[in-house]
Amino acid sequence: MHEINLELSASQLKAADQCFISWAFTYLYGLRSPSKPYQVFGKLIHACLESYAITGNVYKPDIDGELSNDLSALTDVNRSRFLKEAPPRALNATRLLPDLSQCRRWPEEVFTFNSSQYFTGPDLSWSPRSKIDLIVNSGSRWLVTDYKSTRGKRVSKSDARELGIEPGFHPWFYVPTAAELRNDVQFILYALAVMQAADVTEIEGRWIYILTDEKHSPRSESVDVTVTLDEMIEAGKRWIELGHCITQWKLASKQHGPPSLDHLKRNLPVVVYPEPKSPCMQYGGCMHHVTKKGKCDAGMDAASLLGG
Ligand code: SF4
Repeated sequence: MHEINLELSASQLKAADQCFISWAFTYLYGLRSPSKPYQVFGKLIHACLESYAITGNVYKPDIDGELSNDLSALTDVNRSRFLKEAPPRALNATRLLPDLSQCRRWPEEVFTFNSSQYFTGPDLSWSPRSKIDLIVNSGSRWLVTDYKSTRGKRVSKSDARELGIEPGFHPWFYVPTAAELRNDVQFILYALAVMQAADVTEIEGRWIYILTDEKHSPRSESVDVTVTLDEMIEAGKRWIELGHCITQWKLASKQHGPPSLDHLKRNLPVVVYPEPKSPCMQYGGCMHHVTKKGKCDAGMDAASLLGG
């Protein structure tokens, strides 16, 4: 049986917030799909930026076990294309980083955060695999940075009408606004963790987005915010509550086995399918939907969800 561990991560909280059923399929049932080619490309660009933060050179990515396995699973054509294309895309994004020779920096810092210092309830347990891409300090200025790859989205005429935007390719469709970033769970947790470790009450955040769509030039953009500790504590409350809720589900699953589909169906909120911005449709479509050979049939029949 799939081993359930109690550790959380920002991506897990985000997944549960978007669709609790999808979270349960992934984290209680252990249903995961292998990395898609564009995701491997994104990981490779990330490794090039990691190399830049450590060595000053984007051309020396550390291709470790997981990335190495992902690359091996690609076709020869994709593998050589991605290995050639990733460093220039990362290089384009380095213009959005501060001059690293002038700062103290912590690349790939393992995430630690004692939630009970700011929130009620016991400390949550965090996955040791969670790493903050880059923390930079210069004088009293602290900057937390994350590298993201994004594919952009081709918006059809009908979706464009519904979304109130022009049809066609939108490179930054999935990139949040500064206001959205302030409420993004990963940003909130990373900002709190760094403010806690550095014992400061204000921090800057820069989320750097690198376009992976290969038909477009290697463009990158950043979303920048400055936040206070009080603001992040307020924004973090609902996420920490969600973390405690998830921990209870995981604890119960560890003790009694994963819940039945029927139990999930009766106890978890569902999202609307198939609105263009719903999680069902993001990143090429939810892997748990029946159209992707998954178990969720949301939207296939107006009266049914999960066969109900
Ligand atoms: S298809 Fe939609 S409703 Fe079903 S699990 Fe995925 S995100 Fe949730």
